[in-house]
Amino acid sequence: MNRVYNFSAGPSMLPLPVLEKAAAELVNYGEAGMSVMEMSHRSPDFEAIIQKAEENLRKLMAIPDNYKVLFLQGGASTQFAAVPLNLMKTGKADYILSGQFSTKAYKEGQKYGDCAVAASSKDANFAFVPETTRESFRPDADYVHICFNNTIYGTKYWYIPDTGDIPLVADLSSCILSEPVDVTKFGVIYAGAQKNMAPAGLTVAIIREDLLGWTNPATPSMLDWKLMADNGSMYNTPPCYAIYMAGLVYEWLLSIGGLEEMKKRNQKKAALLYDYLDHQDYYIAPVQPKSRSMMNVTFITGIEDLDKKFAKEAAAAGMKNLKGHRSVGGMRASIYNAMPYEGVESLVAFMKDFAEKNPK
Ligand SMILES: *Cc1c(COP(=O)(O)O)cnc(C)c1O
Repeated sequence: MNRVYNFSAGPSMLPLPVLEKAAAELVNYGEAGMSVMEMSHRSPDFEAIIQKAEENLRKLMAIPDNYKVLFLQGGASTQFAAVPLNLMKTGKADYILSGQFSTKAYKEGQKYGDCAVAASSKDANFAFVPETTRESFRPDADYVHICFNNTIYGTKYWYIPDTGDIPLVADLSSCILSEPVDVTKFGVIYAGAQKNMAPAGLTVAIIREDLLGWTNPATPSMLDWKLMADNGSMYNTPPCYAIYMAGLVYEWLLSIGGLEEMKKRNQKKAALLYDYLDHQDYYIAPVQPKSRSMMNVTFITGIEDLDKKFAKEAAAAGMKNLKGHRSVGGMRASIYNAMPYEGVESLVAFMKDFAEKNPK
């Protein structure tokens, strides 16, 4: 069986050179005489792996020294609780609702304090990212939370909200490392690894140092960012193998030229698909052009049976997991870093062919 083009929203494709390197080292890592999976997390070999991973992530994202990098467990969803538990001082926080994950984060936040909706595009089925100004936020809010790329709806912020002195907290799960971001504009960035970074099981958090140390005393130790930072992400056993894989992905990104080069490649892939969508009338792209995601591209035929047929026939042709999320319907092509340009070329060719063979 050949490898397919896997358009899954997550877990998703990993770069082939990364998988091949991992395979070569699977049963015996370097001179260790054992697999990374079998190593003590306190061993010199693993210490070197996690340190190198952090160093390379810092290099890739130009993370300033006054930010901590944490390698955590529990997925991005666990951070929905960790954010209020670590950041609430006055007990107030503002959320922008731009999709399902930001709404989940907001609902989780409501368990711990006074959370307000600063802006929302829910009434438009999240087809765009709401615009905000400083005045959209309560001046005494402890933080403003956003989801930077909305995996399910296929939207992305084209701007970074101006929150004044209020720390901006962003879920970057589905767009981290897809292009450069100015880390200094954020108080906290977090991301589940399984979209664009590594296998599932790892969550990366990047936290400005002055935001550490405000943890609610009732916070479970595992969600206490300060405790994790003080212990170099090794308060307990970290997700060792996923960290090792993330490290290989960071090395791969550096080897191709870093995030500027990655952005060029991602723009080229996304442009191919959106240009096609804009110059035909068979498929409908529900997202407003300004809010389009470079990572998740949603489209529908408008006829449910045709959508089903599309996903099924595309899978048979070697393009898997194109079925859209149930809340949008239709199709979603997740074209993360590891998706080659050729994968998008075959998708567009398939879309043309399908439209011709299945008139509406
Ligand atoms: C996938 C995803 C999540 C959920 O991540 P888990 O690791 O499954 O908790 C949260 N936010 C965004 C933007 C996502 O894409």
